[in-house]
Amino acid sequence: MRIILAEPRGFCAGVNMAIEALTSAIATHGAPLYVYHEIVHNKWVVDSFRRKGVVFVDDPSEAPEGAFLLYSAHGVPPNIRQQAQRRRLKTIDATCPLVTKVHREAIRFAQEGYTILLIGHAGHDEVVGTMGEASDSIRLIEQVADIDRVDVPDPSKIAYLTQTTLSVDDAARIIEHLLRRFPAAVGPPRNDICYATQNRQEAVRLLAAESDVVLVIGSRNSSNSRRLAELARSCGVPSHLIDGPTDIDLGWFSGEETVLVTAGASAPESIVEECVRMIRERFGASVETRTICREQLRFALPKV
Ligand code: SF4
Repeated sequence: MRIILAEPRGFCAGVNMAIEALTSAIATHGAPLYVYHEIVHNKWVVDSFRRKGVVFVDDPSEAPEGAFLLYSAHGVPPNIRQQAQRRRLKTIDATCPLVTKVHREAIRFAQEGYTILLIGHAGHDEVVGTMGEASDSIRLIEQVADIDRVDVPDPSKIAYLTQTTLSVDDAARIIEHLLRRFPAAVGPPRNDICYATQNRQEAVRLLAAESDVVLVIGSRNSSNSRRLAELARSCGVPSHLIDGPTDIDLGWFSGEETVLVTAGASAPESIVEECVRMIRERFGASVETRTICREQLRFALPKV
């Protein structure tokens, strides 16, 4: 058996920043410390912070007045910020700057009178946050068919934005259809799908071709992890999205395959290592890292 480790994989700059911000906040202020929704969409990361006394809440009212509340990497809508302010919570903003960029674009397009077609997944934290910035101006587009159905006041004044963690191919298909119905539509100055999402997808696209099976380490509620598993399948390669080694069914392998291993942007490298170790111990696989590109981006920590 041969294992190919896709590079880049795992933590992105936004996830690193959010985790470091929360770690530093606990060290500075102690527990309990409150986080609005999951800090990042990964079971291991969330569980490890729970053990350190972090309380994940779905509403600022769940945090006692005056407590510290940290906003997760996915960002929050303005009404959550207002609620936190009314409750006199001390807030720490660990929103990924690439998500904040999409919020700013939404605000600008709305101020300029555009109807914004936001391509994304209903209910995802990031989409809820972006829609909250200009709810009267934004229509959610989840699939090509939504473009035909969407009702807009002025078809010549349309802008589009996307969630940062979409499938690059799906987004391109939807935008192509959107531009057919609204030829004057304008997009963001730079692609909203973030560098980390694009790089991890590109690595799978290139390396799946020489693999028999793909393992994607990541949680089910991680949008970018799910897109990696779907992409591998669309390349004709069976893929499994797993949280960790206990999800691996050794019956998936005969022992002679080439297995591509990658990880979503919120999956810790230690879990990737555990998965690889388990397969190696069972099948004696060789391991080779294949680097598609190197990532050096880092984000400054918010003030804690
Ligand atoms: S996946 Fe992209 S947008 Fe999301 S936290 Fe990471 S860098 Fe930021």
